[in-house]
Amino acid sequence: MKNISLTIAGSDPSGGAGLQVDLKVFKELGVYGMGVVSSLTVQNSKGVLCTYPLTRGAVFQQIDALFRDFKIDAVKTGMLLKTEVVEEVYKALENKNVKIVVDPVLVSSSGKPLLEEKAISVLKEKLFSICSILTPNLPELEVLTGIEIKGEDDIEKAGKYLIDFGVDTVVVKGGHLKKGKTVIDYIFYEGKLEKLEYPMVNVDDVHGTGCVLSSAITAYLSFGYEHYKAIRLARAFLQYKLESVKKLGTGSFYFIL
Ligand code: PLP
Repeated sequence: MKNISLTIAGSDPSGGAGLQVDLKVFKELGVYGMGVVSSLTVQNSKGVLCTYPLTRGAVFQQIDALFRDFKIDAVKTGMLLKTEVVEEVYKALENKNVKIVVDPVLVSSSGKPLLEEKAISVLKEKLFSICSILTPNLPELEVLTGIEIKGEDDIEKAGKYLIDFGVDTVVVKGGHLKKGKTVIDYIFYEGKLEKLEYPMVNVDDVHGTGCVLSSAITAYLSFGYEHYKAIRLARAFLQYKLESVKKLGTGSFYFIL
C-alpha cells in the first residue's frame, strides 16, 4: 500500500506554487498525492493577477468524498481564500485521525491577498485547534499574533503564543529576517525551541518556497516520521531544490523545478 498525502490548496496554473507544486513534491518524495482545489488564482512569473473562489460547499464535498474512500496519512492546507472555505476544511477534518500541516498563506509575494481578512480569526480558532504543524513566515507570524517581529526575542514570544493557541508544533520560517549568509528556521515543539540554520541561497523572488516546505513536511509525516524529523528532512529537501531554481517566464520569479 502506498502512503497517501493530500493537499488542500489554491491552483497556481504556472505550476510554481499551490496545489500544482505540492503534487510535484509528493511525487518526488514517493508518496501518492491527492489534491483538493480550494480556489483559483490567475498568475504567471510576474505575480498573481486575480483570484476566484469556488462554489460554497465544493471544498467540503471534495475532502469528504476522499476521506469516505481512502486512508489518508497526512494533509496540508495552503491558500484558502474565503472564511467559508476555512470553515468547510475544519468541518471536513475535525474528527479525522490524520496529521494536518497548516501553511497559513495570507498574501502572495506580489501583494495579492490569498486569504480574506475576516477569515484570520476563524483560521486561528478552528484550524489551529486541529493543526499538527503550523508553518508561518515572519509577515504571517506578525499578523497571526499581533506581535511586531524585530528580532529573535519577538519570534520566541510569537511562537509560544501560537503553541498556547493549541498548535502542536510551529515552524517559523526566518527567511525574511535577513541576517548575513544564513537563514534560520525556528521549531517550537514539545516545550522546546530548536533552530535550523542553512546557507542563504542567493536568489531573490523564488516562487513557492513555503508551499514546497509544507508539502514536503506532509509527505514525510505520511511516511510516519515524527514532527521534528519530518521538518528537518523537508527543510533539507527544500535547500537541495533551491540550489537549482530557474527563471521560466519573462517575469522576475524563479521557479523550483
Ligand atoms: N499561489 C498560490 C496558489 C499559493 O498557494 C501561493 C502561496 O502559498 C502563492 C500563489 C504565492 O506564492 P509566492 O508568494 O511564493 O509567490
